[in-house]
Amino acid sequence: MAFCFDLDGTLYRGDAAIPGAVAILGRLRAAGVPFRCLSNTSSRPRDAILSRLRSYGFDIRGDELLTATLAAGTLMHGRGHRKVLPILAPAALTDLAGFELAGGTSGRPSAPADAVLVGDLGDGWSDALMQEAFHQIMSGADFIAVSRDRYWRRGEALVLDCGAYVAGLEYATGREAVIAGKPAPAFYLAALASLGNPPPGEVAMVGDDPWSDIAGAQAAGMQGWFVASGKADAATVASAGITPDLSLASVAELPA
Ligand SMILES: [Mg+2]
Repeated sequence: MAFCFDLDGTLYRGDAAIPGAVAILGRLRAAGVPFRCLSNTSSRPRDAILSRLRSYGFDIRGDELLTATLAAGTLMHGRGHRKVLPILAPAALTDLAGFELAGGTSGRPSAPADAVLVGDLGDGWSDALMQEAFHQIMSGADFIAVSRDRYWRRGEALVLDCGAYVAGLEYATGREAVIAGKPAPAFYLAALASLGNPPPGEVAMVGDDPWSDIAGAQAAGMQGWFVASGKADAATVASAGITPDLSLASVAELPA
């Protein structure tokens, strides 16, 4: 058995590790059970996500963390793109080294782009950014999104993720975004490859997002293990028509 873990709502929440999560990963490490962390977070670069995990006490190697922003870079490179209009947090743009970034949140004047990349902008969304993305997609730029995630949980409140903005641009342009992170099969295949390509059915994705974590992993042939420690409860999962292979109150209950 091998594991993939979501981060927000699964390994940590707010400013702290989920109780018991550090010990569970330590136990897996000691037992030689391989695992990866799969994050759709696009508000900060991978190094900052790694530092955050380590500050909570997690022992995670750099190569054990796969992020959707870096996956977007791989995807855009594979599609031959060089000029990118970034619509994601400026802090995360260091993970797009190698691309010519112009307009959007790059701090540089707008220029014709091969691709528009949309991620989580939190409070940074504006009509001007939506308009710029809309214009470039209508002019033929490829439409890439880090994720289509609906919401995450901050304290007791659910907070919009970038999915609503991606859906808005899809509606206006009539174009469907290519998703780089979870639940894209390519992202899960990259995780399996990084684990040495074990049989997918012997890998469990543990996460709090019914769509990206559970349904996404199952579509890639993996097991989807739901944890109720984050954004959703069992009723939300059921009403989404998703059946996890296992449901846990939190990652601390992981049979390991
Ligand atoms: Mg999560």
